[in-house]
Amino acid sequence: MTFRFFAIACLCATAPAGEPSPWVVVQDSHFEVYSQSEAAARDALGRLERLRVLAERQTGWSAPAAHRVRVIGFRSEDEYAAYRPRAVSDGYYAGSQSRDYIALPGLGAEHGSALAHEYAHALLHSSGLNPPTWFNEGFAEVFADAAGASPGADRGDVAARLQLLRRRPWLPLAEIVSLPADSPLFENRESAEMIYAETWALTEMLFRAPGYAPRFGGLLASIGAGAEGGRRSKRRTASRWRRSRAMCAPGSAGGPARQLRPMPCRLWSLPPRRGR
Ligand SMILES: [Zn+2]
Repeated sequence: MTFRFFAIACLCATAPAGEPSPWVVVQDSHFEVYSQSEAAARDALGRLERLRVLAERQTGWSAPAAHRVRVIGFRSEDEYAAYRPRAVSDGYYAGSQSRDYIALPGLGAEHGSALAHEYAHALLHSSGLNPPTWFNEGFAEVFADAAGASPGADRGDVAARLQLLRRRPWLPLAEIVSLPADSPLFENRESAEMIYAETWALTEMLFRAPGYAPRFGGLLASIGAGAEGGRRSKRRTASRWRRSRAMCAPGSAGGPARQLRPMPCRLWSLPPRRGR
């Protein structure tokens, strides 16, 4: 793999003292990473390549083949704030037929989970599944956890999500699975945190619990076909979901806490990648 480095503003330019460093881009055949720190961009490119390999090995999905995923890492939360779509967005993904963008407040290790989460959105977009919001967010959180279990990446914050699920009231399942991408619940940090925690728990349950895991590929095929898994499947899911919520109640010894073990080597068998 060859990396090419060049400055956007001025090749080989040196910023005068007190002025911001020029933006640079570090790229390979899959990604182009923009940053004001070449070292940070190079490091992020290495992490993205590890995510790409992980995704291809464990899901069969690959990065968009027609173009590089463009990643923009700002220098700080303040500089990122002017571009974030929501006040509570710690990073975001935007995709079209011709381009995939990921924007983050920074490219350091502390943003590793956010980078993996947003890259998962690029993978889903590339897969052609066009999933509902709950699965889009739940898959991204599960993927970030799996990435954290790999050498060289940080851990997703599973414990924090479990704490939220124990402490706060849950949004009803019907509300979670019908959530629109532009729901006002994403504008508030407390409700957004619960959405991420619940969609993560639901996705985890569907592909790891013995009663669901064997049929997870079928669920994805249904999602890809524009269905939601059928009425019977919905009833089973709702029943199991209620039991999970009960087990997660304060004082309970069971429930998702048992899911703290690392992700298995292979997440699941997904249907073949479809056209965009
Ligand atoms: Zn997301």
